[in-house]
Amino acid sequence: MANVMEIWRREAVTFEKQNPGSKALYSRARESLPGGNSRTLTYYPPFPLYMKRGEGPKVWDVDGNVRIDLFNNATSLAHGHAHPGIVRAIHEAASQGTAFASCTEWEIRLAEILVERVPSVERVRFSNSGTEANIGALRAMRAFTGRPKIAKFEGGYHGSFDDVSISVHPAADAAGDREAPNSVPDSEGIPPEVVGNVVVLPFNDLEGVERILRSLKDELAGMIVEPIMGGAGMITPEPGFLQGLRDLTRELGMVLVFDEVMMFRLGWSGAQGFFGVEPDLTSFGKIIGGGLPVGALGGREDIMALFDPSRDGPTRIPHAGTFNANPATMAAGVASMELLGPAAFEQMAADGEYLRRNLKELIQSAGAKAQVTGEASLFKLHFTDEPLRDSRAAHTSDRDLERLFFLYALNRGIFINSMARGCLSTVTRQAEMDPLLAVTESFFSEIVNTH
Ligand code: PLP
Repeated sequence: MANVMEIWRREAVTFEKQNPGSKALYSRARESLPGGNSRTLTYYPPFPLYMKRGEGPKVWDVDGNVRIDLFNNATSLAHGHAHPGIVRAIHEAASQGTAFASCTEWEIRLAEILVERVPSVERVRFSNSGTEANIGALRAMRAFTGRPKIAKFEGGYHGSFDDVSISVHPAADAAGDREAPNSVPDSEGIPPEVVGNVVVLPFNDLEGVERILRSLKDELAGMIVEPIMGGAGMITPEPGFLQGLRDLTRELGMVLVFDEVMMFRLGWSGAQGFFGVEPDLTSFGKIIGGGLPVGALGGREDIMALFDPSRDGPTRIPHAGTFNANPATMAAGVASMELLGPAAFEQMAADGEYLRRNLKELIQSAGAKAQVTGEASLFKLHFTDEPLRDSRAAHTSDRDLERLFFLYALNRGIFINSMARGCLSTVTRQAEMDPLLAVTESFFSEIVNTH
């Protein structure tokens, strides 16, 4: 590993030389922002890049370096940066006023698009983030069933609020049995009562899930699951797993929520269309806002009616938000989704397949201890040979190598993410993917030769 450290040092020196402007801004940022930022993911060592602009598949930093963006703001940009049609829509909406304490037609149009495309979605409510969508989902499942506990999967990331900041990345010595994981808070400041109301389930272990659900059947309101666990490393459900969750939750009167904040980009009807399994509720975010802040919760009419303020008597779930269904976001979302027809999904899936296949071939011919996961437009490199059934397996990936790969790619004109994760958009084609393949080949030749 000493040689890996040497490569890191060499790459860090190159990075410092390439990015003096970012380095200076980072020092300045630390004086007014803890750690210099407002979003944990934007920090990475030796210091983060500061961006100036983006256009199509590329981004320019403050030092004038241009890089191919294969992360697309954490999978939220379906058409790369500053797509002219989306910019026009934002401009049109914003020039008529950026916010009203009233509804706009844009909101109806984006809701109609989701209802048209996703058969399980009968009604929709908008918010400003995927986190907010999931807050609504959990409240709805508790209100609908009258039960206090919710279930989530170990490794599942659903945003930054208390109930879901549990066992996303638990320390190995606290995580408990693989078949019946402990509930481990991922952050300080989460009350023990909250932790006690969150049950953690083992991914891709239907028997383990069934045992836990049956033992808590009168207390559990439902479960939230990301159909492919994106943050955990693009971990794919084994055949029958999602359908098994559907059958069990239906039998036990629990609400099944699919978190499609990231995975809606799997296809025209999202992850549920991709896998052919229908949840009761679905949370959305990222691509449906066309690059602006967004969240949405959709699903069965009888559950979504909990949010209906037009009914007689007190609203069962008052759902407020000064910027909910903001017209600029709604307009950007409509433009983005209208550009995403079936052919666009097919193209992204074919490109993703090309990228993953070639990455796998490079790994094989280098004899590297690595794997590639992902579906459709998504990909992730893992530096481990453990079979990737769940987040525990994914967490065996060598984090130092992931960080080094990220830095190595940054120095060679490619922006992915510090966990070697990325995604394509409709404007990242072969000309953008081949440079990543070249960088990967060179990386593996250096790394494998050091071992
Ligand atoms: N759910 C999933 C699956 C996500 O990937 C994310 C964000 O990465 C969220 C929820 C939270 O969304 P937001 O960052 O918009 O709050």
